[in-house]
Amino acid sequence: MRYHIDTIPVWDAQKLDSECLLCALRRQIERGEVERFLGGSVMEPDTRVQVNAKGFCQRHHVLLYAQQNRLGHALMTHTHMRETRQKADQILSAAVEGSQGKDSSRIKRVLGRGGQDALNAAADALDRLTGTCILCDSIESNMNRYAYTLLHLYTHDTAFRQAFEGGKGVCLKDAALLLRMAAEELRGKEQQAFVQALQSLIARNMQRVEDELEWFTLKFDYRNADKPWNNSRDALDRAVTKLRSWCLGAEPDGKKE
Ligand SMILES: [Zn+2]
Ligand SMILES: [Zn+2]
Repeated sequence: MRYHIDTIPVWDAQKLDSECLLCALRRQIERGEVERFLGGSVMEPDTRVQVNAKGFCQRHHVLLYAQQNRLGHALMTHTHMRETRQKADQILSAAVEGSQGKDSSRIKRVLGRGGQDALNAAADALDRLTGTCILCDSIESNMNRYAYTLLHLYTHDTAFRQAFEGGKGVCLKDAALLLRMAAEELRGKEQQAFVQALQSLIARNMQRVEDELEWFTLKFDYRNADKPWNNSRDALDRAVTKLRSWCLGAEPDGKKE
């Protein structure tokens, strides 16, 4: 797959020197998307259709809610709810028929499998129905583009390669994103060099944050109360980022709330 290359945001994120440059980019996109969906401008019809179909995940409902635009949030939720109610009724009606031992065309069409398994199939269908998010999808497609760009810069721009290899790198979640992209887009020596660099980068930086987190815990010992924090004051926040991708603490792109 080919992606549009967008080098400036990736270079800017690398220069931030945060624990994960891809988390910083993801958060920038997320903030922009939350504002865009609640923006005053009329939503494109195609986007509207997708909002109705997919809705938002829990995290993104929380972020939309925090924007304090209750009308905009309610309008999108209303049309999504109308569509979801109809789909849920199809699923649950098929479950009713399944529980009655029927094997109707509705069961086959809505659930794919009937008979004894109709209730589990209906549960799976409800899980899928409540597992979609247009914001997550949009973020994911942007992140694929940034991961692709990062690999492109790594293989074509010596200055970027040096900055990346000497930097704080990425979280484990984004290491997975980069590995998948490297499997897709890099071959031979380029792939080997990148994977080797990623391994060293993560080993070195995980060790650093682990040591900082240990010092953070030791600072709670009264005998260490007067000793300096060094870089450990926010070590817990940064350790969580390294392990699970950014979700708490200071904004990963340095933006002030
Ligand atoms: Zn990350
Ligand atoms: Zn989401």
